[in-house]
Amino acid sequence: MSRKLLLALPVLLFIISARSAGQTHFDGKTWWDYVKVLAADNMEGRETGSAGLRKAEDYVVSQLKLAGVQPGGTDGFYQPVKFHSRQIVEKDSSLALIRDGKLEPLTLGEDAFFSTRVDLAPEVQAPLVFVGYGLSVPEQNYDDLAGLDLNGKVAVGIGGSPSEILGPLAAHHSSAAERWKALRKSGAVGGIGIPNPASMDIPWSRMSANRTHISMTLADPKFDDTAGEKLAVTFNPAKAGQLFAGSGHSFDEIAALAKERKPVPRFPLAVSIKAIAKLDEQNIESANVIARLPGSDPELQNEYVVLSAHIDHIGIGEPIKGDRIYNGAMDNASGSAVLLDVVSSLKKSGERFKRSLLFVFVTGEEKGLLGSRYFTSYPTVDPKSIVADINIDMFLPIVPMKVLTVWGLDESDLGDEARQVAEARGIVVQSDPEPQRNIFIRSDQYNFIRHGIPALAMGIAPDPNSPAQKQLFRDWLTERYHAPSDDLDQPIDLSAAAQYEEVIRALMIAVADNSHRPQWKANSFFRSYAENPSQY
Ligand SMILES: [Zn+2]
Repeated sequence: MSRKLLLALPVLLFIISARSAGQTHFDGKTWWDYVKVLAADNMEGRETGSAGLRKAEDYVVSQLKLAGVQPGGTDGFYQPVKFHSRQIVEKDSSLALIRDGKLEPLTLGEDAFFSTRVDLAPEVQAPLVFVGYGLSVPEQNYDDLAGLDLNGKVAVGIGGSPSEILGPLAAHHSSAAERWKALRKSGAVGGIGIPNPASMDIPWSRMSANRTHISMTLADPKFDDTAGEKLAVTFNPAKAGQLFAGSGHSFDEIAALAKERKPVPRFPLAVSIKAIAKLDEQNIESANVIARLPGSDPELQNEYVVLSAHIDHIGIGEPIKGDRIYNGAMDNASGSAVLLDVVSSLKKSGERFKRSLLFVFVTGEEKGLLGSRYFTSYPTVDPKSIVADINIDMFLPIVPMKVLTVWGLDESDLGDEARQVAEARGIVVQSDPEPQRNIFIRSDQYNFIRHGIPALAMGIAPDPNSPAQKQLFRDWLTERYHAPSDDLDQPIDLSAAAQYEEVIRALMIAVADNSHRPQWKANSFFRSYAENPSQY
C-alpha cells in the first residue's frame, strides 16, 4: 500500500460511512409521489402510442424542466419513434391440426393463439417437428436443430434451456431474433412455442386473455428480425398433449425433463398445422424522452453514463375483477420514478460529476424493447460516448432490501462496481438465480449490450433463506405482473425503494467519476458485440 493511500484512508472511510449511514438522499416518499402520478388511472396504462403515454411523458418532461436539466432528445426532450402495429382479427382467423388427413380444429385462446410479433402469412399449412428447447448456441457447440429436417416445416419448442448452457448465452439465443435466425437457416417457415410450465410468469388464462391486444414493430424495416417468418403461435402447455399424440413421446415426459433443465429429445411430430390469419395493421407514433446533466471534466464530459427505464406499459385490456386499466405501477412507473427522483436529487445537491449523465425514458419496451432499440441505433449523443447503461425495470420493492439481483453481474466490471456499491451498504449481491426466465434479455439493457455498451439491471430479490419471501415474489408474478392489479393499491416497502435508489445513484456517480470507462470481462460472450459492432 502506498503512503499516499494510507493517508487518504481515514478520509475514505469517513466518506464510505457517511454514505452507507443510510438513506441520505431518498425517503421513498418522493419516489412514491412520482409513481402515483405515472400509474394513475388517468394515464390509462401508458400504452405505446396512446394519449395516456403522451400524458405521462408530458408530465416527465415538466418534471425534468422543473429540475433544470437539459433536453437530450432530437425535438427538445423528445426523440420521436415510428411504429407499425398488428392485431389479429380472430373471427377471420383459425388454427387446426391435421392428423392422418383429417382436420382437428383448435380453439383460439384455449388451445393456442397467434403471436402477432411476426408478420403472419394469410395461410400456412406445414408439418410439425419438435425441436426441444429450439436453441442454437454455436459458442457452446450446441444445436437443437441439428440433424432435423425442418425444410418447409414449423418448429415446435418448449421454453427454457438445458442447464449446460450458460445463463446469459441461453438468454441471448432465446430472443425472437436469434431463434428465427437459426430457424430460417434450417428452412423452417415458422414456430410454435409452448411455455415451460415450470417457469411461466403468468398463468395461461391471463396470457390468453390479451392475445388480441396490438403488437408493434419499429416502422423501419431494417429492424425486422423475423422477416420471412410466416407463422408464430403460442400453445397452451395444458393442451400440448395433442401435438405429441402418435409421436412416441408425450408432452408430460418433455415437461418433466424441461423442468429439471435436462436435455430433451427432438423428433418429427405426427401432425401438421393449418393456420389462417387475418391482421389489422396501423402506423403509430410515440417517443423516447431524454434528459442530460453535463459533466464537469473538460474531457470526460464528452462521455455519458445512461440511466434508463421504460415508461410505457400495456394500456387498457381485458378486465380482471372488473378493472380494465393495466396501470403498470411496478412495471415500470417504478423505474421511471427512480429516474425522476435521482435527477431531482442530483440537481438539488449541486454536485458535479466528471462524465455527463443521460436519463433515458424509453417507449415501446412492452412491444419488444423497441424504444431502446431505436435509441441505441440512433443515439442522440455520439454512440461511442456512451460508456454504460444502468437500466431499471420492475425492481420490486416488496420486501426489505437485503438481497439485490444484478443481471449482467459477471459480464463487465460495471457488475463489480455495482457489487461494491451495494455491499458497502450491507446488501448481499447475487447473479441471476433464475436464468431460465431470460430476464437479462427481457429489458432495455439488452439493446445497449447489443451495441457493445456494458450494461446491467438490478432488482430487489427475496431472501434465499425465506420461503415466505420467495412465495411473495411468485405470487406477485402470478397475480399482479401484467395484470390490472399492478396498480397503486398494493403493499410496497418505501424504505426498500429508497435504499434501491441510493444504490442506483451511487453506482451512477461511481461510473461517472471513475478514471476508466467500464469494460466487458475477457470471458464474457457479450464482449463480442463491442469488438464487432453489428448492424443490430
Ligand atoms: Zn412488462
